[in-house]
Amino acid sequence: MENKKFIEVKDLQKTYDNGHQAIKSVSFSVNKGDLVCLLGPSGCGKTTTLNMIAGLLAPTGGDILVEGKSMIHVEPKDRNIGYVFQNYALYPHMTVLQNVMFPLTVGKGKKSKNEAKKIAKRYMQLTHIEELADQKPGKLSGGQQQRVAIARALVQEPKILLMDEPLSNLDARLRLKIREEIRALVKEVGITTLFVTHDQEEALSIGDRIILFNEGTVQQNDTGDNLYLEPVNQFAANFIGNPVIDNFKVKVENDYVVGKGFKFAITDLKNERFKKTLQEGQTYTLSVRPENLLPLMTEVKIENDDHYLEADIEDIELIGRERVLKFTNDGNSERSLINLEHQVKRGDHLTFSFKLKRVYIFDDNGERVY
Ligand code: ATP
Repeated sequence: MENKKFIEVKDLQKTYDNGHQAIKSVSFSVNKGDLVCLLGPSGCGKTTTLNMIAGLLAPTGGDILVEGKSMIHVEPKDRNIGYVFQNYALYPHMTVLQNVMFPLTVGKGKKSKNEAKKIAKRYMQLTHIEELADQKPGKLSGGQQQRVAIARALVQEPKILLMDEPLSNLDARLRLKIREEIRALVKEVGITTLFVTHDQEEALSIGDRIILFNEGTVQQNDTGDNLYLEPVNQFAANFIGNPVIDNFKVKVENDYVVGKGFKFAITDLKNERFKKTLQEGQTYTLSVRPENLLPLMTEVKIENDDHYLEADIEDIELIGRERVLKFTNDGNSERSLINLEHQVKRGDHLTFSFKLKRVYIFDDNGERVY
């Protein structure tokens, strides 16, 4: 039981003074020691949620519990939460050591100067900034400032660490390095962490779990694997994955799922998880990730022509290990991924095979029906 529901967010709501309903109703729980990413597009309410957990914003409804205790009427300074802001918010006139020590030199839990210095140095060692102790923040690189902000957030040994887009000011290569460091650090310290990002790759790479937001609601709360392999709705399928998922308009006719230039018998779709049957005459969106739409690169005997799709390649993009082949089907842009050994030219006419067990079908409301 100890491990369960360290943080519980229940029917949380926030309507700003201007009437904007930023959080409609959000519920989720976080296990002790987990690193959980709040993921979603700009404006979906990630920062608003984080600020309510920190106590910087008052909710207009719902509750936030930590270890079973409501935080709603607890002052931010008494919540025992560390917060790393997007812009780091370091004190420019203080040295790195003074910045990291600062939380220990003010307020209720104030320590002696020597004690504060000792604790600060421990966290500076953990974040690899000991040698910067006497520098001012203005002289530091983005990555170094980031580490100082993390050390300062951890120095009071909070129960919870909140990080709002902590990597957004760093260049791409440094972002990859620092995100590995952050994951290693929070796991070493063992602190329960909420990490806000709009970058799905970042969330997949560091999150024990990911809470996917859209328009002030939670769309899916899951492991990265499940979010990628079992999206619960069209929004989740479209938001996760790079290159983006392929979407095909289809209609159910005479027990077949029929798209432009391809069809499958419904009986060929065997995912047991979705009991809701496809409705005769209804239109749907059939989605498949580009790596599961495979071009047939050799002369293979096609036994059932229906399962295949033919297309002319319009463009090819190299993305490191793989190539993205781009083509149009029924007016929609689609993509297929192949490895570099296969040579393909623009204008080539190819046949693609759907990996049927990795096909998803969404109804016109975006809900998953297969
Ligand atoms: P981003 O990644 O762009 O920061 P976010 O998911 O963190 O996005 P929030 O900052 O939580 O989103 O904002 C959610 C919505 O609430 C947005 O539409 C935003 O414009 C609006 N909003 C945020 N702060 C206020 C405010 N003080 N008053 C009114 N509306 C606000």
